[in-house]
Amino acid sequence: MRNKNLTVSIEEAQEIILNSVSPLNCENISIMEASNRVLYEDIVSDIMVPPTDNSSMDGYAVIASDTRGASHNHPITLKITGEIQAGGSIIGQRVSKGAAIRIMTGAPIPEGADSIIQFEDTEEEAGYVKIFRETVKCENYRFAGENIAKGDTVLQKGDRLRSADVGILASLNYNIVKVYKQPTVSIISTGDELADIGEDMQIGQMRNSNAYTLYTEIIKYSGLPDYLGITKDTVKDTKEIFLKALKSDVIISTGGVSMGKYDYVKEIYSDLNIDIQFEWVKVKPGRPFTFGKKDNKLFFGLPGNPVSALTSFIQFVRPALLRLMGAKRIAKPVVNAFLEEDINKQSGKVHLLRGYFTIKNNEFYVSTTGNQTSSVLRSMSDANCLIMIPENITKVKAGEKVSIQLLDHDEI
Ligand code: AMP
Ligand code: MG
Repeated sequence: MRNKNLTVSIEEAQEIILNSVSPLNCENISIMEASNRVLYEDIVSDIMVPPTDNSSMDGYAVIASDTRGASHNHPITLKITGEIQAGGSIIGQRVSKGAAIRIMTGAPIPEGADSIIQFEDTEEEAGYVKIFRETVKCENYRFAGENIAKGDTVLQKGDRLRSADVGILASLNYNIVKVYKQPTVSIISTGDELADIGEDMQIGQMRNSNAYTLYTEIIKYSGLPDYLGITKDTVKDTKEIFLKALKSDVIISTGGVSMGKYDYVKEIYSDLNIDIQFEWVKVKPGRPFTFGKKDNKLFFGLPGNPVSALTSFIQFVRPALLRLMGAKRIAKPVVNAFLEEDINKQSGKVHLLRGYFTIKNNEFYVSTTGNQTSSVLRSMSDANCLIMIPENITKVKAGEKVSIQLLDHDEI
């Protein structure tokens, strides 16, 4: 006899799942493949970026005190004694009193100079430059180390790499970076009614869409999906496909976890000694949801309806994949929004309604995207957020504030 509470809240489900995750091991990869992967190591800079003081403008390197009193009507004239391009050498180049060196953006600042005046405030003629305004010390300087100082921890273990992060790795001369491995994920579709893409549809059949929705989500979260196909609703076929899936770190199935006569997924879990942690979540859509574990493998028995499968993935599988990959940030942002229509619901479950938010005068507004039946994927495709109505609330009026979970924003 199991003595577990098989019906849990969203928060309890998330906690049970995250407590079941052991992060994967590491591997070294090229920084060019590192987008969205999670760092396994802190990145500490052993250099200064930029390495030397350099100019942030095209102009002239001068001695600031030489420009004192300069104005448009009374320019000061300096003799041009050299030029430094970006990437050019400053060896042998020195700005002495009364002189200026032409300098390009990014070029190192020559000895003697203590300020850069941009071309726009000058006029050059026959080896001399007229300076039309006073400049102060260190104007238009990029200082050595102002971007990154030696010893700075610029990125941390658990950071999910974005483009600016990869740029930082490149500026620190990293070609290869140590990241968490990607979880392998098997996808199983269960259901006698399902026809796959390209197969003839018999009366009463419907297309398998879940496998493709989930495949796309898994890639988005840097998992390695393997779609194993559709299984018929028989014990034998269901067991066979689950045995094939055992090679993966994560096994996701859709359908077959409800109260139907031919829902065999839980039976197979028991047969394979998968330890079921819960079977129902107090959420709509997505109430039937079986989560189990065995050794380090995670088993997500998602509901069959297309919207339930996807919203359950977002609430429960997504955080697990991120944690498997060592990510520190796993929460989708939740903000308050003014509701633009009345909503009525029954108590007892949190409702996640498909919504579309807009921002007017710095405030969020949200309305639903139409039919909220859990088989209507269209209204999920139209949504950019989920409106979260708490368990015991039965009525929210237009103009009141509700929490919305942003679907298309990175984790925070
Ligand atoms: P089940 O939980 O197995 O009873 O599935 C519930 C409903 O979800 C089924 O009646 C189908 O309409 C739908 N469904 C199940 N699996 C899929 C799938 N892979 N793709 C699209 N719809 C599905
Ligand atoms: Mg089914």
